[in-house]
Amino acid sequence: METARAQVGELIGAPPRDIIFTCCATESNNAAIHAALKANPQKRHIITSAVEHSSVLNYCMALEKENYRVSYLPVDRDGLLTLADLETALTNDTAVVSLMWANNETGVLFPVDEIALVCQSRGVLFHCDAVQAAGKMPMNVSKLPVNYLSITGHKFCAPKGIGALYVRRKTPFTAYLHGGHQERGQRGGTENVALIVGLGEASEMALRKLPDNERTVRRLRDALEKGMIEGIPGTELNGHAVQRLANTTNISFLGTASEALLLLLDEEGVCASSGSACLADSSGPSHVIRAMKPETGTRREAVRMSLSPANNETEVTVAIRAVSAAVQALRSLSG
Ligand code: PLP
Repeated sequence: METARAQVGELIGAPPRDIIFTCCATESNNAAIHAALKANPQKRHIITSAVEHSSVLNYCMALEKENYRVSYLPVDRDGLLTLADLETALTNDTAVVSLMWANNETGVLFPVDEIALVCQSRGVLFHCDAVQAAGKMPMNVSKLPVNYLSITGHKFCAPKGIGALYVRRKTPFTAYLHGGHQERGQRGGTENVALIVGLGEASEMALRKLPDNERTVRRLRDALEKGMIEGIPGTELNGHAVQRLANTTNISFLGTASEALLLLLDEEGVCASSGSACLADSSGPSHVIRAMKPETGTRREAVRMSLSPANNETEVTVAIRAVSAAVQALRSLSG
């Protein structure tokens, strides 16, 4: 476990003792926000964004019922956050700012360096959900004044069901799960050693292969995206073209219901999604796309694809053909 702690620490530039193992990033996110609120019991204001993962959004909404006030910062059409909005939202009553590093539906990157500096200068605790960014881009918390940072294993080839929370030294932390003395009293519950070792190994592998993987994946993603946008009429990229992760693409196929498209793609062996896996059973449009493009209303036309270094050019070609044929088929049905 201590080897794994060092490996995870290395991935994000943290000393091993600042890493707490959790069962998932949902727990990490909840635990970080909980700790920040406990540290400032007199403060009742939380800042987050409208495009966070449900593990932050739904916890914040639950906290609103406990008389916390939550500011959900907006994003622009490219999914980008404006720092001025954060600065305006901060008050003397703000206990914590919780903003993600990379969006799970679009890959869009928030300016976490600047966000961290703003929070630090205002003396407000900053939690970053770095789930999508970890293992996919360089990360160094020794140079980033973030107080809490969440990661989860299954985003970079570790098993499902293991996560970690980084808590900067001297940042207040109260256990979220009360129990035994595991994790130096910071997280009760018998440790799942096998999964922890898996997280450690995956962290080491991700770090070692990071530059190569990022290059490979970006090339494949760009080819896939270009093929779909240039080859299929009525497409629209969701998310900033540059300021985003190398592995994600999110495209709306106008006038084509994403759920129908996903079914056809599944038959062709192409895996894609229409939003977050955690919201897969909700029928409404993605809250992320709606926050970026309110005019999309109730339409659900966005499809997200994520690539890994294990993909190859042939698969990209197959995927472009499959999407093109499926969109054509669906449009001819409706039109
Ligand atoms: N945060 C983001 C951005 C995610 O994409 C996910 C998805 O898995 C989570 C948090 C939740 O992670 P977990 O499923 O490990 O609880």
